[in-house]
Amino acid sequence: MKPKPCPQSAYIHIPFCTHKCEFCDFAAFAGLIELEDEYCQILAGEIESRLSQRQEALSLKTIFYGGGTPGLIKPSNIAMIHKQLLKFAPLQTGLKPGELEIALETTPHAITAQKAQEWLEIGINRLSIGIESLSDAELSAIGRDHSVAEAVAGVAIAHQAGFESISIDFMYGLPTQTLASWQATLDAAIELTERYPSIQHISAYGLEIAKNSPLLSRFPRDSASYPSEDHCVEMYEALVRTLESHNYQQYEVSNFAKPGQQSQHNLTYWRNAPYFAFGVGAHRYVDGVRSANLRSLKKYMRSPLTDEVSEIIDAKTCIKEGIMLGLRLVQGIDLKQFEQDYEVDLLATQGSEIDYLCEQKLLELSDGKLKITRQGIPISNSIIGRLI
Ligand code: SF4
Repeated sequence: MKPKPCPQSAYIHIPFCTHKCEFCDFAAFAGLIELEDEYCQILAGEIESRLSQRQEALSLKTIFYGGGTPGLIKPSNIAMIHKQLLKFAPLQTGLKPGELEIALETTPHAITAQKAQEWLEIGINRLSIGIESLSDAELSAIGRDHSVAEAVAGVAIAHQAGFESISIDFMYGLPTQTLASWQATLDAAIELTERYPSIQHISAYGLEIAKNSPLLSRFPRDSASYPSEDHCVEMYEALVRTLESHNYQQYEVSNFAKPGQQSQHNLTYWRNAPYFAFGVGAHRYVDGVRSANLRSLKKYMRSPLTDEVSEIIDAKTCIKEGIMLGLRLVQGIDLKQFEQDYEVDLLATQGSEIDYLCEQKLLELSDGKLKITRQGIPISNSIIGRLI
């Protein structure tokens, strides 16, 4: 198998939030913002320690400030971290428009005109705004601390500040949500995109609830408040139908974009390419090893170079990941390219499963590309399971 190239993407984790949403299982902490300056200094130190020991010349194509809520902290701290990152891994030059992506994730109510201006000055060229729902009742059901009015205001501020590439991010399958209320959110989202054409990208993920999530105490897993599995499939179909009829092309199971506006950073993950990552609980894929920093904020700040987990990705695992991630993309797996990258002819090794899934119209093989069909997407996990 070809060795993985040097990463050209970096993920920076900023863990502070105004409020811990009840469903959230990320390394995200509320009420600790007084640690922001110290955390950012430690993170800058981690960047230096990890990158200064690399032998090769580094350069980056995509950077993603994720969280947590990076939009919550002082832009001067983002600027300081950004400068530190570029000191060791400058941005690539000569790229085509849209290839260089520096994205920042934020809640809508953390956006102010002043911050938006400073983010643009730093070089952030894409905002990913977590709206989740355009129903106040649903936002409060999942324990979010923003309202629909704040969501709309956040988008307006970002648009007016001059951001030309905004993603608005949703969730479905929420407690109290119905097919009709989800369709209302989708319709309101489309209205929003008409008002603010800089919304070039929309993502929508089905709610996943971690085992000990506080949401489960209000809405136990078997509660009738959640839409049924069949309704979730219908919600997904409504999502695809509504967005595609408004020129948001689906390019990944949960992601839709105007032409040329796919998330370049997330494509790194789905293409099974390597990436650096820094910050508490951040996961990286570097030199054939997937590893993650400590997830406890206190422990990370004491020991930012210690791994919580680390796994050497052997050829077999890498191939499985290549199939799993490649089939999430609507364009599917280019079998020739796959053979070049992984030295595996999937038609030779998985031919009978592929034939069976094609007969069932769950997979489609055309022009040398293997794709999950529309019909297969809602059960993509089990399809992928059969192939790996
Ligand atoms: S804002 Fe996002 S990261 Fe923060 S607690 Fe809520 S879901 Fe988690």
